[in-house]
Amino acid sequence: MHTLVGVPNPDAVLEQHAAEIRAIAGGKVSSSLIEQLPNLEIIANSGVGVDSIDLNAAKARNIAVTNTPGVLNDSVAELAIALMLALARSIPQADRFVREGRWQNGMFPLRNELCGKTVGILGLGRIGKEIATRLAAMKMKVVYCGRTEQPDQPYSFISDPVAMAHECDWLVAIAPGGKATDKIVSRKVLEALGPKGYLVNVARGSLVDQAALVELLQSGQFGGAALDVFDNEPNVPAELLALENVIVSPHQGSRTEEAREAMGRLVAENITAHFEGRPLPSRVV
Ligand code: NDP
Repeated sequence: MHTLVGVPNPDAVLEQHAAEIRAIAGGKVSSSLIEQLPNLEIIANSGVGVDSIDLNAAKARNIAVTNTPGVLNDSVAELAIALMLALARSIPQADRFVREGRWQNGMFPLRNELCGKTVGILGLGRIGKEIATRLAAMKMKVVYCGRTEQPDQPYSFISDPVAMAHECDWLVAIAPGGKATDKIVSRKVLEALGPKGYLVNVARGSLVDQAALVELLQSGQFGGAALDVFDNEPNVPAELLALENVIVSPHQGSRTEEAREAMGRLVAENITAHFEGRPLPSRVV
């Protein structure tokens, strides 16, 4: 086993061991990395999103790609709820308010409840459904948007993201990254949510028009955002950090001990199944 992440010179590791490497566990896999590994057979991603893997390059070489669906749903859903509550009730700001001794000079400003508001889930998949269940229990009206209606779900389907945003106070983005969803949370979607609208992004930074988000937040045309993911992570624009109505989180949706242990196990199960010639538990391509 060789490690390419966190070592001083990953190129040297590759140069020395490229021909021996038959499997990659976790991480970002570019077409150039695939090209450098002539005997690569499987990429077992640690995560459900495979947008950081060049799937076409893998397909062209008949390299299997697997992911870790399902086992992180609760972890990501709990973070989404935490971010919503943190934004609705200004929890980080309230914490600073008490610590900095400002409570002695007056009360904290009034904030808003989630109860009774409408939330649109953009991507009612495995994680989206877990978020929806929790938000319905918190007395929110849930609607959803995706490419296809799911008639077995108890929530109303609205096929167009802008039309959904017009109906919503909150929008939670939890669809996959990639070309098909690039900037799907567009300026128009944000404008439709409006000055009292809130966005939670626990999907990928690519889903949101980040420049438009910053501009609308700065001008008061958008209410607030809670973001676990960004364009160009781990860099977060200073303009976002300067805004009080923004909660930021370091892409930690699946970063719980429980989820990481289950994800690690599923990565190992996929690799073992491959080398034992059995069907792969969670194959993507
Ligand atoms: P699923 O595949 O179960 O669900 C994805 C949902 O998105 C489906 O409901 C699908 O509905 C919808 N969708 C797919 N493509 C589009 C599109 N072009 N436009 C609108 N909706 C679309 O995935 P998971 O719920 O398991 O995961 C979702 C994503 O969450 C992952 O791909 C990953 O990027 C992100 N994630 C983030 C984490 C974090 O740390 N913040 C951790 C884990 C995952 P339909 O097919 O009807 O369009």
